[in-house]
Amino acid sequence: MEEYLILAVDDQDFNLIFLKKTLAEYQFLSARNGRQALELLRKYSPDLILLDIVMPEMDGYEVLRQLKYDERTRNIPVIFLTSLDSIEDEEKGFNLGAVDYITKPFKPTIIQARVKNTLRFIHQQKLLERMSHLDGLTEIPNRRFFEEKLAAEFGFAATNKRPLSLIMIDVDFFKKFNDQHGHSKGDEALVKVAQIIRSCLNEPHEFLARYGGEEFVVILPDTDAAAGSEIAEKIRYHVSISQLFNNPAGSHAALTVSVGGYSMIPANYEYCHSILEKADACLYQAKKHGRNCVKWDYS
Ligand SMILES: [Mg+2]
Repeated sequence: MEEYLILAVDDQDFNLIFLKKTLAEYQFLSARNGRQALELLRKYSPDLILLDIVMPEMDGYEVLRQLKYDERTRNIPVIFLTSLDSIEDEEKGFNLGAVDYITKPFKPTIIQARVKNTLRFIHQQKLLERMSHLDGLTEIPNRRFFEEKLAAEFGFAATNKRPLSLIMIDVDFFKKFNDQHGHSKGDEALVKVAQIIRSCLNEPHEFLARYGGEEFVVILPDTDAAAGSEIAEKIRYHVSISQLFNNPAGSHAALTVSVGGYSMIPANYEYCHSILEKADACLYQAKKHGRNCVKWDYS
């Protein structure tokens, strides 16, 4: 069982003390009002939030609205704990996106059971998400996740007339590397390349996925050719100086990558794979040009 962190928000100290005692098996954070809760959420990402509704200044409904508005807190499940027991209030809570609604009088065993159910549900959901969206080796998003993301970002850029850049990265001479060092060293190398690329990006805004084999792909929303090619060059450079994969036989040939990128302001009628095909053509140029280099184009 993993360790769960619960954030309780209530303006009454005795409620917070009661909840802390009731949920002693979990890690526990508390806030006395909405503002304090939002402040804490900049530093912590709890697995569950228990939220009072009647509080001065900002009520629980407003806190939940703000949580749903922020990408980082949107998916944290919220249970309302309140004295408001009308159907209207309960409906309002669920409509705003709460996962559960518990009314007074609070019974410790009921709260424990409902918290446990919610956490179990969230845990299973996360597992499923991980299995279907992440690449098993590198633990970065897989191709399926990338396809969804590309369609969404392409559509957004077309609608809002914003630039979009896409980078394709291919590990140079990877088959040779595998033949020389074996597949497990090859796998290790891919994990490390993924880590290096990640370290050059501003996630989650900039999105890295494993496209397949030794190929990676990066989506750069709201990024033009100048900024995009700079990131591509940074990736190429950091892999080339990593020295992580020096040939033990003494050739000291570090692993390198070839990079192709493309920037465009998409039009609504265009197919989202058009940017992928153009970036791939640039990658081909980079390979032809001697590898360990970046080729970029834009329209
Ligand atoms: Mg209250």
